[in-house]
Amino acid sequence: MFTPLTGRTVLVTGGTKGIGKGIAGVFARAGANVAICGRDREKGEAAAQELGARYLIADVAKAEDCERMVAETVAEFGGLDILCANAGVFPDVKLADMSEQDIDAIFATNVKGTMLTVKAGLDALEASGHGRVIVTSSITGPITGFPGWSHYGATKAAQLGFLRTAAIELAARNITINAVMPGNIVTEGLDELGPEYRATMESMIPQRRLGKVEDIGNAALFLATDEAGYITGQTIVVDGGQVLPEGVMAMDAQ
Ligand code: NAP
Repeated sequence: MFTPLTGRTVLVTGGTKGIGKGIAGVFARAGANVAICGRDREKGEAAAQELGARYLIADVAKAEDCERMVAETVAEFGGLDILCANAGVFPDVKLADMSEQDIDAIFATNVKGTMLTVKAGLDALEASGHGRVIVTSSITGPITGFPGWSHYGATKAAQLGFLRTAAIELAARNITINAVMPGNIVTEGLDELGPEYRATMESMIPQRRLGKVEDIGNAALFLATDEAGYITGQTIVVDGGQVLPEGVMAMDAQ
């Protein structure tokens, strides 16, 4: 039995849609106070209302926004126990066509944004006495590759490089930092790609289904518990077995 997270406060960056909204929903249902951030105010306010959360406008690529979102969370709820550094972007472009701006833009949100978010949260997380950071990485980059996403894969692997040293530094402040690595998760954008695309993707996953945002939220919830307090600097793949088959034949032989 896990100690309930009732009354704990979580800030989920990129919590206004997709996986972040799913994580926020799982924590809200677990009784936590939830703050979410994103850049689009209209979308953010609507998501916050749906979730029973507090929306804070912030661009994680900007240090002052990260500091303000943490200060506003602490002012609203009296502290910060759990920080989910989830905001991320994934525009696709092949390397041969990639501009310097393409590279700078994706690193600004996915890598710099993750680091600025965690840095901004440190004092409040330490003050809680049991700070938890959960980073949303991906299987793409650390484990797999996909044409068009070399810059994205580099950012998702960079997040893991960051957290391993951060885990050592943060241990002295009683803060753990771990990452969830989602496979293919059903989000709002996926439906636009059509049923055929979805069926093909499902056929490559041993569990024969795409992930739900709650699958990622549940992993994050576990890492946020008191009982997970001795786990730090680690990663957990949540992908229905997607990275396991050696090739198409392994799936056909199932
Ligand atoms: P999504 O549906 O596009 O949602 C992204 C969220 O991040 C939105 O709330 C967006 O809000 C916010 N965001 C983006 N840039 C931001 C910035 N600079 N500052 C603040 N907020 C920002 O994406 P998703 O699919 O849920 O992905 C979320 C995370 O999961 C990402 O880190 C992604 O790499 C990772 N992931 C996703 C999948 C998948 O299958 N979906 C798989 C593996 C990993 P605004 O646009 O309003 O700012």
